[in-house]
Amino acid sequence: MGIAERALIAEIRKRTGSRSAAVRVGIGDDCAVLSVAADEEILVTTDMCLEGIHFLGEWQTAYSVGQWCVTRGLSDIAAMGGRPVAVFLSLACPEGTEPVWIRDFVDAVRSVAESYGANLCGGDTAASVSSIAADIVVLGAVPRGQAVLRRGAKIGDALFVTGKLGTSQAELAMLKAGECEERRFMPKPQIEAGQKLRSIATAMIDISDGLSTDLAQICEESGVSAILDADAIPVAKGAQLADALHGGDEYQLLFTARAEGKVLTRVAGVPVSRIGAIRRKSKHAVYLIEDGRSRVLEVAGWQHRF
Ligand SMILES: [Mg+2]
Repeated sequence: MGIAERALIAEIRKRTGSRSAAVRVGIGDDCAVLSVAADEEILVTTDMCLEGIHFLGEWQTAYSVGQWCVTRGLSDIAAMGGRPVAVFLSLACPEGTEPVWIRDFVDAVRSVAESYGANLCGGDTAASVSSIAADIVVLGAVPRGQAVLRRGAKIGDALFVTGKLGTSQAELAMLKAGECEERRFMPKPQIEAGQKLRSIATAMIDISDGLSTDLAQICEESGVSAILDADAIPVAKGAQLADALHGGDEYQLLFTARAEGKVLTRVAGVPVSRIGAIRRKSKHAVYLIEDGRSRVLEVAGWQHRF
């Protein structure tokens, strides 16, 4: 027996935790009504999660898929230095989808969002023809004029990354090779670190598509090139340098800051590594120093092709 749309919405509404101060009206009206402080600006990000493209049901529980989906949006808010305010979920499932899958998925989206101060404030549900598709919109707030953009990197800035990289890609390779059965890695959005970095970072992005690809985005937007030091990349245990350079779904923060500032090793309790520098724009966006030699680093992270 499937689950009817109205019953599902009623259930989600019942499970929603206490409303944050920003939410005047949540689920149950034509629109949510939100308020942020007069000296704040609103951040909006949207992410699609498609079965077979972004996740495979056989490798992940519904709860884990929900965690990943909402983390992608929350991480974008972190990358701007903002605080999450509200989450909206549009979910399409084929007829016959296990009600427990839907409940667990929505529960993950709701509870992870709430753990970062944002309520699930609305969305839409629909029946799809063949596979599950979720679209998540996350709204955040940031003090006016203080959002950290991709375009602020300056020649001579140092390049930093939070946490360690490569676990997600290494685990994916093991799943594909049949060496493990289920996704265990659970990325966390670096919300607190992102807010602390507002006063330090000149440019920032979250690593969703891979270090090489996301760094190239900063370079492109800032009109610069970057050089990475292979020895300084914080490679996670069990991962290889290539996993850390090109693997997506990390959700750590990659940022630039003035090189002459105080030595930065930790922000909001998260370790920070200095991994390179920003240079004048040259032919390629990203270079890598390895064994004393500099070479062009292929931008080989995740990219959809149409
Ligand atoms: Mg992003």
